Amino acid sequence: MKRRGFIKQSTLLGLGAMAACTPLNGKENQNSKSIVLSTWNHGLSANVAAWNILQAKGSALDAVEAGVRITEANPAFTSVGLGGLPDRDGRVTLDACIMNEQGEAGSVAFLENIMHPISVARKVMEETPHVMLVGEGAEKFAYDQGFKKVDLLTKESEIAWKEWLKESEYKPIINVENHDTIGMIAIDDYGNLSGACTTSGLAFKQNGRVGDSPIIGAGLFVDNEIGAATATGLGEEVIKTVGSFLIVELMRQGANPQAACEEAANRIIKKHGKPKFQVGYLALSKKGEIGAVSIHPGFQYAITSSKSATLKDAKSMLSSD
Ligand code: ASP
Repeated sequence: MKRRGFIKQSTLLGLGAMAACTPLNGKENQNSKSIVLSTWNHGLSANVAAWNILQAKGSALDAVEAGVRITEANPAFTSVGLGGLPDRDGRVTLDACIMNEQGEAGSVAFLENIMHPISVARKVMEETPHVMLVGEGAEKFAYDQGFKKVDLLTKESEIAWKEWLKESEYKPIINVENHDTIGMIAIDDYGNLSGACTTSGLAFKQNGRVGDSPIIGAGLFVDNEIGAATATGLGEEVIKTVGSFLIVELMRQGANPQAACEEAANRIIKKHGKPKFQVGYLALSKKGEIGAVSIHPGFQYAITSSKSATLKDAKSMLSSD
C-alpha cells in the first residue's frame, strides 16, 4: 500500500522568536519538589498553566490536565485540538489519554467535535468503569458529560488540507515536527506523578487511524512508585515497542530516565537502521530525575521547576547527516 503521510505546516507565527527561557512568577518556593515536563515548544505555554497549579499545592493530575488544555484550545498549534490538521477526508479526529498517581487511566480516540479531549479522557477515568472510549461513542459520552460541540477545522487547516490533496503524497519532513503532540508529565509537592497526552495525530492520516497518544503504555505511562514517560513522533513505532511502558519498566530495573529513554529509542533504531521518521521520549523519575531523547536532532522539550522554565534540546541518538 502506498504510504501517504503528513506535511507539517508551521503556523506558529511568532513562536520561533519566543525566548527559550520564560520567567517564573518570582514567588517560587525553592524547596518545591514540583517539576513539569512537556514536549515541543508549545510545552512552554502549557507548562505555565500546569506550574500555576503545582505552585498552589495542587495535584499533578490537575496540573497536567490544565496544562495541555492550553495547547488544545490554541488554533495556532496545528497538531493538537482546535485547528489540528485533519485526516485525508478533511475530518479532525483527536486522541488523548491521562493517568493519575493511582495508576488509573482514561483515554479517548478518534474523537471529533470536542475541543478538550484530555478532559473527556479524565471523565472516562473518573466517571466510567472503562479506560478507553472511541469515535461516536466517545463523542456521545462527551455531550452527556456537558462538553459542547465545536467545529475544530479552522480555515487555515482546511487550506492546508486542500493544498495537500493536490498531490496527496508522503513527505516525511523530520523536524518540521516541532509543534507536535503534547505529552506532559509532572510531579507535585506531595511527590505524586501524573501525565497527559493529546494530539490530532499525523496530519492527513487515513480516516480511522489512531496513533500512540491515547494508548496507555505507548504514548504515556505513569507508575507512581517509579516514574512517568511520554512520547511524540511516529506513533506506529511507539506502539510497536510500547515505548512509555518500556521506559518506566527499565527505570524500575534501575536505569535512570535518560538511559531508559535512550534504550527505548535504540529499540526502534535497531529495527530500522537509520529511520527517516522522528520519535521523541520524555521521562521523569519519582526522585525528579529527567530523561529526554529523540532519534533525530530537533526534538525540544519544556521543563519547569522552582529553578527555571526553559526550552531544551533533547539528546539525539543519530546525527543530523
Ligand atoms: N505521536 C502522534 C501520533 O502518532 C503524532 C506526533 O506526536 O507527532 O499520532
